[in-house]
Amino acid sequence: MQVIRLEALSDNYIFLLHDSQQNIAAVVDPAEAEPVLNKLKELKAELVAIFNTHHHQDHVGGNKQLMQQFPQLTVYAGVEDRGRIPGQQVFLQDGDRVHFADRIGEVLFVPGHTRAHIVYYFPPVHNSETGELFCGDTLFAGGCGRLSEGTPEQMVNSLGKLRSLPDNTNVWCAHEYTQNNLKFALTVDGNNTDLQNRYDQVKASRSRGEATVPSLLGVEKRTNPFLRWEQPTLQSATNSHEPVQTFARLRGMKDQF
Ligand code: ZN
Ligand code: FE
Repeated sequence: MQVIRLEALSDNYIFLLHDSQQNIAAVVDPAEAEPVLNKLKELKAELVAIFNTHHHQDHVGGNKQLMQQFPQLTVYAGVEDRGRIPGQQVFLQDGDRVHFADRIGEVLFVPGHTRAHIVYYFPPVHNSETGELFCGDTLFAGGCGRLSEGTPEQMVNSLGKLRSLPDNTNVWCAHEYTQNNLKFALTVDGNNTDLQNRYDQVKASRSRGEATVPSLLGVEKRTNPFLRWEQPTLQSATNSHEPVQTFARLRGMKDQF
């Protein structure tokens, strides 16, 4: 399974999963149809599935048009999003599995950004390979999603689930927010040398116009403040000794940043 990153709207990424042997593809969060259709045409591949993480328009905007072009495809999303996902056919719960080509994706229920958000985690097939995490707007490179429908407690729990996945996991998040996220991170975790180095790398990549997605989960664990709520530096930056409160205050500071 090859993952192809497509740019959409102003700062969204759409991910196309492609299996060249069967010449089939699946798409994660098609913000819009056109970049997906163009790539499918280039690959001469048939689209068999849409995997949505949540109902926001910049994640489902292309569903309808893709369904018209490929009437046989299946639309997957979380059960709590029933009624909010155009064309939804499969209603996924925590622990469910989805199949694409020879890979199996595990569904994790991660409320917080929205009350219904799910992510898809494809474990590595061989030990030497990476896992692939499609995390929508829950975990970002260097940050996390806003709490538009959920509570800090839910989000801590959800990010905790993602943090427990192996370090060698590609984090395919849905927006290019990394540089600004890390700029904020430096204001609360400025002595973290891994973070300093990452910021310099990301800044250089962005100045060359390069994408910073995917990142590795191991890097996120060392540098993303929204996965580091029990670190003493972050607790003192937020004047808090309780993980959910630390997280909530960090999220509040980022909202104002
Ligand atoms: Zn969203
Ligand atoms: Fe989004």
